[in-house]
Amino acid sequence: MNIFEKIVNREIPATIVYEDQDTLAFMDIGPIIKGHVLVIPKTCYDPITETPDEVLCKLIRVAKQVASAQMNVLGADGVNIIQNNGKTAGQEVPHLHFHVIPRFENDGHHW
Ligand code: 5GP
Repeated sequence: MNIFEKIVNREIPATIVYEDQDTLAFMDIGPIIKGHVLVIPKTCYDPITETPDEVLCKLIRVAKQVASAQMNVLGADGVNIIQNNGKTAGQEVPHLHFHVIPRFENDGHHW
């Protein structure tokens, strides 16, 4: 079982910001910037090319809601939505996830 499945099963703690039947969103333990959220399907899929379209549609809808909250509640000026596939691409956790990262003017972060 991967670390995100343990979060889904409440075997390890996480700060959950959204949950429905299929999807979970929680704060990244090592945020790139304050407010960095991960959006995952409760069922493990990996990589994106093996993931059903309907799962991706649900995830991006939740990522959009999270981005909206980051702008309206946190006052973010912009948002990066990032999804890594494979170690070469920087993926650490083999469970599909979208990073939703709020951006603030002069936040000093450069990709
Ligand atoms: P990846 O590099 O796979 O695209 O991103 C994995 C993300 O998961 C990283 O940003 C990392 O900080 C986050 N992460 C890894 N382990 C945990 C954990 O146990 N709890 C939470 N909340 N985030 C985690």
